Amino acid sequence: MRAVTYVRNNTIEIRDKQLPEIAADQVLLKVEAAGLCHSDITVINLGDDNPLIGGTLGHETAGEVAQVGASVSGWEVGQGVVVGPILSCGQCRECIAGRDNQCLVAGPREGLAPLTYGIGVDGGMADYMVVHARHLVARGDLDAVVAASLTDAAWTPMHAINTVAHRLTADATVLLLGLGGLGHMALQILAATSAARIIAADTDPAKVEFAAEHGADLALVSDAETARRVLDETNGRGADVVLDVVGAQATVDTSLACVAAGGAIRFVGLGGGSFTYVAGTDPLPWGVNIERPYGGNRADLAQAVALAHAGKIAVTAQTYSLDDAQQAFDDLVAGKIVGRAVLVP
Ligand SMILES: [Zn+2]
Ligand SMILES: [Zn+2]
Repeated sequence: MRAVTYVRNNTIEIRDKQLPEIAADQVLLKVEAAGLCHSDITVINLGDDNPLIGGTLGHETAGEVAQVGASVSGWEVGQGVVVGPILSCGQCRECIAGRDNQCLVAGPREGLAPLTYGIGVDGGMADYMVVHARHLVARGDLDAVVAASLTDAAWTPMHAINTVAHRLTADATVLLLGLGGLGHMALQILAATSAARIIAADTDPAKVEFAAEHGADLALVSDAETARRVLDETNGRGADVVLDVVGAQATVDTSLACVAAGGAIRFVGLGGGSFTYVAGTDPLPWGVNIERPYGGNRADLAQAVALAHAGKIAVTAQTYSLDDAQQAFDDLVAGKIVGRAVLVP
């Protein structure tokens, strides 16, 4: 079978690999769609000397069950599924509590987060893929390309939004910073699941226009005045929730400058911004809750699938055949992708 393989630094190749065999608790998936993500670019640029070389890429996968292991029940050949990306163990304290994104397989505190398919274990950019049955989520008749795109771009914001859901009351204001791949999904999820007033901001006027048409109550082209605008719009109180899906210095600064007292910030984006905190004299208002969420759990993925199924969130995808994977990677690096790039075997 064909498999998009990370062969050396900044180099992928479509290799012919043996059809994998499954263990008793696994299923073989016939891949129907595999999304590309900026983290794939990060992974293939980790250098010439790392254990990921030789692996099949892809952590955003939708497909059809092709074979079930001897001890697997509840899944049938032909069933449409998506793959929960995180390689959670299903048995540790965190998994039992439903926090599979915090699975203890990650090891000690300084260890990595739990790894995902396509990063440490062969992923979905191939004709077939092996998946542990516990990582599957049913997708019914939801289109495979749409479903694959949900597994990171909607799943991650779905999780972040679920952590603040109780704060998103009808009299609350949520500020969404960033309207790219994750941000445009976050906006639609907020509009579909909360009654809060949504202020959305991005530096790109086209994305701001999209936001105005897809549920933002106020859409702003962001600049140095964004925090001031939000304070003006909330009688000086600030945003009850800030979702920063960019994480650049400008958005981190804006988040801290306009979060309300007792409000919450979710730093989802990985853009390298930073802040310092001064105990006792920091200008950060009292009672602020800050979290750095990682991915999501299977319940978050099931909810994202349900929203797409109900037509409440829409995905824009640009499809490529698996054989054109190089072109898809090149287009992603060049910033030419509108929405999500998806490989279709
Ligand atoms: Zn990703
Ligand atoms: Zn676990």
